[in-house]
Amino acid sequence: MLSKETIGVIKSTVPILAERGTEITSHFYKRMFHHHPELLNIFNHANQQRGRQQTALANALLAAASHIDQLENILPAVKQIAHKHRSLGVKKEHYPIVGENLLAAIKEVLGDAATEEVISAWKEAYQVIADVFINVEQEMYDEAEKMEGGWRFFKPFIVAEKVKESDVITSFYLKPKDGAPVPYFMPGQYITVKITIDGEKYVLNRQYSLSDAPGKDYFRISVKREAEPNQPSGKVSNYLHDHIQVGDELELSAPAGDFVLDVHQLTPVVLIGGGVGVTPLMSMLHSIAKENPARPVTFIHAAKNEAVRAFDKEVKDVVTLLPNGTSFICYDQPIQNGNGDHKGKITKDVLEKFIQPAADYYICGPVPFMKAIVSYLEELKVADEKIHYEFFGPSMLMKQAPLFA
Ligand code: FAD
Repeated sequence: MLSKETIGVIKSTVPILAERGTEITSHFYKRMFHHHPELLNIFNHANQQRGRQQTALANALLAAASHIDQLENILPAVKQIAHKHRSLGVKKEHYPIVGENLLAAIKEVLGDAATEEVISAWKEAYQVIADVFINVEQEMYDEAEKMEGGWRFFKPFIVAEKVKESDVITSFYLKPKDGAPVPYFMPGQYITVKITIDGEKYVLNRQYSLSDAPGKDYFRISVKREAEPNQPSGKVSNYLHDHIQVGDELELSAPAGDFVLDVHQLTPVVLIGGGVGVTPLMSMLHSIAKENPARPVTFIHAAKNEAVRAFDKEVKDVVTLLPNGTSFICYDQPIQNGNGDHKGKITKDVLEKFIQPAADYYICGPVPFMKAIVSYLEELKVADEKIHYEFFGPSMLMKQAPLFA
């Protein structure tokens, strides 16, 4: 338990964290990786380069400071981060390293403003926050290991099949090398692929959503080749596309994540995907077809054109079997006019047709896409608790109010 005085000091740092949080976390990561380069085997370097991890941590610190007297308020957000940590293999012994470097970074960035009183309050508070994470993550590791076919950190899988889904997206069907059953997962969850690439100094970890229903003897992931002009090519996605073949081995963590569909509900569901963000929604769609085919479901997918969009036939085949299922395909720049149900971006007017009372909305896609969809849903008076979304990267603020990232 933190004393009243400590809580007061932590709360007094909220304004400066709001103003200089990213400066502190940027310095923190540089410092920590300088002293502990081995942690680069866990963290995603591209997210560091693009500053997304630094922003996510700054938001997290700000939220923790704001809620320091009622940390239970931020437990859902703690769990979201803990899922990611568990999928990456973050361990209890990493927390003191983070703590030491974070306190040093606060001191080094804020200088005289970080008085001894502030540093000692943050030292105490960090321990409390770290203990919350350590305990939640411990439970998650135990749960992952206890499941039928489960395991704790990483285990080898064999690529059983590789299927091209579009010009840029390829699926990999993965089976446990040890022949154990594939554990059940919740539709919407992801695994981490841990990969060693010749010439890369560190091991690379990337999350991929499971794109088929649970209950099969394989996991399916569907990976977009990241190759934008004038930008470095994505390391892992290109390696998977170009070098990983049927029969090769990949190290996987057990399924994780809280962007999940409750398959036991009967309420309507609207799935809204942008580009490769459709992968967790594919798992949700297949799960509805398997568990509850009468459940009302609308599947909306926006893509640039027919060539890059994956799963066209698969979606049609599934939706045909659902008496209350609808699909709605949007092509921003269709190759052939008339293809798809809508030409152009999804607008508020387009979305309005699919608003249903009591429906839950599951959204995944590029950040600007999700921001637009979430703001339209809000304008259309959909309640916050009905809107669920997943970032294919560190969590970001969807709106200005300080969420816990
Ligand atoms: P990276 O090497 O990580 O690069 C990523 C991007 O950063 C590239 O566009 C690159 O150009 C840019 N970049 C790299 N270095 C720099 C630099 N120095 N400066 C500026 N920009 C730089 N992806 C899927 O395809 N399918 C999925 O189902 C999927 N599910 C996901 C689920 C979750 C929960 C999360 C968090 C992510 C998911 N992703 C998914 C994304 C995936 O984890 C990877 O981020 C993606 O494959 C890119 O990895 P990469 O190694 O190829 O690219």
